[in-house]
Amino acid sequence: MNTIDKFNSNVMGTYGRYPLVMEKGAGETAADENGKQYIDFGSGIGTNSLGYCNEKWVEAVCSQVKTLQHTSNYYYTKVQADFAERLNQITGYSAVFFGNSGAEANECAIKLARKYSFDKYGKGRHNIITLVNSFHGRTLCTLSATGQEVFHNYFFPFVEGFINVEANNTEDLKEKLDDTVCAVMIEYIQGEGGVVPLNQDFVDAVFESCGKKDVLVIADEVQTGVGRTGKFLAGDNFGHKANITTLAKGIAGGLPMGACLADEKCRDVLGKGTHGSTFGGNPVSCAGALAVLDFIQSGDHLQQVTEKGKYLKEKLLKIEEISGVDGMGLMLGAALKTKKAADVVGEALENGLLLLTAKDKLRFLPPLTVTYEEIDKGVAILEEILK
Ligand SMILES: *Cc1c(COP(=O)(O)O)cnc(C)c1O
Repeated sequence: MNTIDKFNSNVMGTYGRYPLVMEKGAGETAADENGKQYIDFGSGIGTNSLGYCNEKWVEAVCSQVKTLQHTSNYYYTKVQADFAERLNQITGYSAVFFGNSGAEANECAIKLARKYSFDKYGKGRHNIITLVNSFHGRTLCTLSATGQEVFHNYFFPFVEGFINVEANNTEDLKEKLDDTVCAVMIEYIQGEGGVVPLNQDFVDAVFESCGKKDVLVIADEVQTGVGRTGKFLAGDNFGHKANITTLAKGIAGGLPMGACLADEKCRDVLGKGTHGSTFGGNPVSCAGALAVLDFIQSGDHLQQVTEKGKYLKEKLLKIEEISGVDGMGLMLGAALKTKKAADVVGEALENGLLLLTAKDKLRFLPPLTVTYEEIDKGVAILEEILK
């Protein structure tokens, strides 16, 4: 039986997959089982932040896996301590909780916010404002938090206590930010929602209104974090630091990890026995994550993310079929005039280019290590398709 048939007869059909069996990758190029090569502008949905099998990353991961692949969180490991310290240093946060995914990082943030409020104000202040068109994950709680009705089917009852505010609508925010609210959760750039950045004015209003009422701001930076937008955190582009920031996707260069970062005020809210994860802070993931930090902190790589992002954006805007490009750094979304994004992604794949969609846009999340030549090559393929 071929891989695709074997796969489909044994794995739940929860994903719409392309008929492509991925076999290996090197740098920014992936190869399928027939040896056909693809320039990767999706990087496994922003996870392979250093591309495929980056040499230093491989070394760090292999060395750790040969030493200690895992131990329980009943004990300490040096590699988790090292990574946590570096992550707090680079972000300015005080403490971190490690899980294995974006949804888990957000679960931690939601629990933390509710407990912060419960400890200080008692019951009844448990509501969390999330934005219309947001995406926060696939667990029941993070689905409930997600502000898109299409996700609120089948699985009733959903978790209570989420109120949606329209993105960039300050009046709607002020109206709904009442005494029942303990936190406002935002993505600075809505990723799955179509690469839609928030306005500076709206972000300012969120922080100002929340600050006045001791309502926590949670920044879901699962997609925007770890250098993706040209700053380590997308919040740095807006001049704000949330009380809680969640990271995942690119954090460990393609190994599972989620992180929930808390500021001074929130660092001790989740005490002994209130939260946990068997695999959280896995040493191999931490070793990979340290290699990602090493890359980001050496040289001017974040500056280059900004510059390469600008370069890619300008090239995309020159294509007649593209009507506009949103996003920051190497997280870009291109709107199309007449073609369907999903069709374009299919055609691109046939022509050796991996792309993503986000709603009706084409989405670009190339590895942070992408070169100008690779950008040129990928865009040339896209240009040909969009002719
Ligand atoms: C991908 C994503 C998630 C979910 O992450 P998982 O690792 O799939 O659980 C949550 N929030 C945002 C903003 C994301 O982009």
